[in-house]
Amino acid sequence: MRKNAFTLLELTERLGNVIRAEMRRVGSTYRLHPVHLQALSYLKQANRYSNTPQALTEYLGLTKGTVSQSLLLLYRKGLVARYVDEADKRVVRLKLSAAGKRLMKDAQLAPVWQTAAANVSPARVKTTVLVLLETLRNLQAMQNERPFGVCNTCVHLQRESARIYNCGLTNDRLAVPETRQICRLHTPQ
Ligand code: SF4
Repeated sequence: MRKNAFTLLELTERLGNVIRAEMRRVGSTYRLHPVHLQALSYLKQANRYSNTPQALTEYLGLTKGTVSQSLLLLYRKGLVARYVDEADKRVVRLKLSAAGKRLMKDAQLAPVWQTAAANVSPARVKTTVLVLLETLRNLQAMQNERPFGVCNTCVHLQRESARIYNCGLTNDRLAVPETRQICRLHTPQ
C-alpha cells in the first residue's frame, strides 16, 4: 500500500513535468511561461467569486509577488483586463480580454492530453480521476488550502428548475454556464 502511494507520487510528479514541458513548448510561441498559461486557463474558468488576483494566487499556490509579476505581463500584452466590482469598488476583478480568449482557443493544450489518454478505457480514466481527486482533497485539507472546484459538484448548489440554479451560500441566482465554472467557495459533496 505504502509502495503504491509512493508510485502515485512519482507518477504525478512525472506527469507534472511532462505537462509543464508541453506548456513551455506551447507558451514559447507567445513568449509566455507556463505560469502565464496557467493564469489564463484559470481566468477562463473562474466564476464571479473567484476572478480576483487573490483567488488566482490561492489557486496556483504561488507567492503574491510571483502572481503580481505574471499579471503585470498579461496586462501589458493585453491578454487580461482589470475592472472594478460594481457592488464593492475596493475589489478589482480580472477577465480575459478578446486577445486572451483567442490565445486560449489557439494554444490548444488539451488535445495532446486527449490523444495520450485516448486508448485508456473510460472506466479506468474515471477511477483515476476519483483517486487523484481524493488525494488532492486530502493534501489540501492537511495544508489548510481552499479546495476550489467546479460549481456543479458543490454541496451548496441548489437546482430550482431545469435552467435555474441558486447558490445556497451566497443566495445568488446562477446561470447554467456558471455551474460549470471554478469557484473558490466550493465545498465538495
Ligand atoms: S454553489 Fe458552491 S461552487 Fe457554486 S457558486 Fe455557490 S459556493 Fe460556489
